[in-house]
Amino acid sequence: MRLVFECVECGGHYLPPEGMVYPDGPASPVWCTACQRAKHAAGVREDPLLARVALAAARAALARRAAEPAELAARPDVRPSRPPLSRRARSGPGGVRSKLG
Ligand SMILES: [Zn+2]
Repeated sequence: MRLVFECVECGGHYLPPEGMVYPDGPASPVWCTACQRAKHAAGVREDPLLARVALAAARAALARRAAEPAELAARPDVRPSRPPLSRRARSGPGGVRSKLG
C-alpha cells in the first residue's frame, strides 16, 4: 500500500512510489516532487526529524484507511432495531441536539 504525504511547503497531497524512490532519485516524505526539486535547486535539505514525523503521520493515515472498511462492515449489526422517534419527540428536552446550534 502506498502512503499519502502532505507537502509541508505547498500543503498539497502527493503519492510517492511505494519504494519512496522516483526514477530520478529518492522521494521525500516532506516535500512533493515540485517543492523537492525547488528545495534541492536552492540547496536546502529536508529536516530528518520532520521526515520521520511525516512518515509516521502517513503510516497512521494508511492504518486508519485500512481499518475503515472493517468498521463500516460491522456497523449494520449495531444498528438499533427500533425505528427512529418522531420529529416532535426528537425536538423535546431529551432529544439529540447539535452542540454547534
Ligand atoms: Zn509541495
